[in-house]
Amino acid sequence: MRLLLGTKNRGKLRELFALLKDLPVELLTVEEVPFSDVPETGWTFRENACAKARAISDETGLPVLAEDSGLEVDALGGAPGVRSARFAGEEATDEENLRKLLTLLEGVPDGERGARFVCVAVVRLPDGTELIAEGELRGRIARAPRGEHGFGYDPVFVPEGYDRTLGELGPSVKDEISHRKRALESLKRRLREHLASASAG
Ligand code: IMP
Repeated sequence: MRLLLGTKNRGKLRELFALLKDLPVELLTVEEVPFSDVPETGWTFRENACAKARAISDETGLPVLAEDSGLEVDALGGAPGVRSARFAGEEATDEENLRKLLTLLEGVPDGERGARFVCVAVVRLPDGTELIAEGELRGRIARAPRGEHGFGYDPVFVPEGYDRTLGELGPSVKDEISHRKRALESLKRRLREHLASASAG
């Protein structure tokens, strides 16, 4: 089976390759099979993930794995949420988004800086079957960026049980505990079950 990864985000692609390496499928990217951008117009991670998977699968005729993810900060009522990539504006860089977040949290005490990363991942098959799974990682927002690893909000996110940011901890830790890892572990289970029952039936 061939599975097209429905993202153009390099940080996500690196993680998806690492997290899917034990799946007996050929992974394809936009480099091999170009696809159009899908506007993120949904109110939930799930709506956006499904919309991406459907649009890219309809456009290419291939099985597609898409995900939507983001950061929910308790003190901001769950923002930036589905707007995580566009928090500081439509074309905002990771750096600008992160600066905006730290500015909004200025003066918020350590005990009130709780947050979670969420990932909803979807596999859409050409027959219309959709397999969906969600993962989360709880933690808190640091007072300043630290570390060079990862992407997005990694330099300001300290996972529960750690005192360093994901930017400092790097891929060996992140790929074991992340919201993306948790969503994909559950999605891989579902996909294996689906493929086994399809081949049995
Ligand atoms: P989207 O799923 O393309 O809407 O983008 C999700 C955005 O959420 C990214 O651009 C990041 O800003 C943020 N995000 C999602 N997952 C992570 C992560 O693992 N680390 C850091 N930031 C993330």
